Amino acid sequence: MKIVAVRTHLLEHKLDVAFESASMRFDRRAHVLVEIECDDGTTGWGECLGPARPNAAVVATYANWLIGADPLENEKLWAVLYNALRDQGQRGLAVTALSGIDVALWDIKGKHFGVPVSTLLGGRFRESVRAYATGSFKRDGVDRVEDNAADVARYRAEGFHATKIKIGFGVDEDLRVIRGVRDAAGSDMRLMIDANHGYDVVEAIRLGNAAADYGIDWFEEPVVPEQLAAYREVRAKQPIPVAGGETWHSRWGMREPIESRAVDILQPDLAGVGGFTEAKRVADLAALHGIRVVPHVWGTAVHIAAALQFMAAMIPSPVRVNPIEPILEFDRTNNPFRQAVIKTPIEHERGVVQIPNGPGLGIEINRDALSEYRMGDI
Ligand SMILES: [Mg+2]
Repeated sequence: MKIVAVRTHLLEHKLDVAFESASMRFDRRAHVLVEIECDDGTTGWGECLGPARPNAAVVATYANWLIGADPLENEKLWAVLYNALRDQGQRGLAVTALSGIDVALWDIKGKHFGVPVSTLLGGRFRESVRAYATGSFKRDGVDRVEDNAADVARYRAEGFHATKIKIGFGVDEDLRVIRGVRDAAGSDMRLMIDANHGYDVVEAIRLGNAAADYGIDWFEEPVVPEQLAAYREVRAKQPIPVAGGETWHSRWGMREPIESRAVDILQPDLAGVGGFTEAKRVADLAALHGIRVVPHVWGTAVHIAAALQFMAAMIPSPVRVNPIEPILEFDRTNNPFRQAVIKTPIEHERGVVQIPNGPGLGIEINRDALSEYRMGDI
């Protein structure tokens, strides 16, 4: 079996209403899928987290080492590709592009052997997961307290047991939003806050101490990801568990946050950390140090499907009759191609998502949507 083609599909949709996290403004949705084709007609799919065109350029570079190679030797190929850009790579786009390729190779392997990726990873501990609704960004031209509270009330009515809102726009304004959202959510809905590294240490500690009374499950990316000592200070000086990891890449990037206990909850991203190959190593390292893992997800149904396969195989922890179950990050913001890229959308029912059990990622790509949302030239 040999790889005969490596393609990227750049997808884009311009939004009518832009929205913002603390670190980024979104006036469009743009994502990149990776397609790897083999000489027997098998095709595997992956996705890269982060900017579409730069990721596609790195994937095209890696293709030089992939054409003619055996796709079943996926961990060997991971090492070959990582080594190819190691001296100037090691993190960032070199690893996010590698992630999309790695996910596609596992998809091929699953299809080849007729089993889901979760079975290749060691076995399925669960057939479904509870999802948490990610939304409540800052939107143009509306009152943030009312807008986010309305979002959360809707998620609750749809059956979600948990939701995550965006903060990092200023401590006092964020506290008003948290208060309004907690009122709308009721006392029993789990509520998480994500600052997208919009605070400095002083602000994060003040916000965390003031927000703790509102029952917050975790405080995500309080400060910039490069400052691990700042993470540890935030963790030590306010009571909300600290989460992070969506921008830490590979086992080497995850090692210090894990070993120095910079976070309570680690959030590796299948499309960013290095694919299934590296996410498994990172999850094993986190388990070794007693750190909870909740994968980060931000992309299309290909990305969601990869996260679901990984979550199916996550070893229950702690060891007890009813362990803490992993929860799926489920983006609720506007993206018309998120589910359109596959033939059977991955949807939730009362906040629960079934994990596909077909070969590979368990999804079938809808090529019509790839044409419909194809990114235009610059
Ligand atoms: Mg986040």
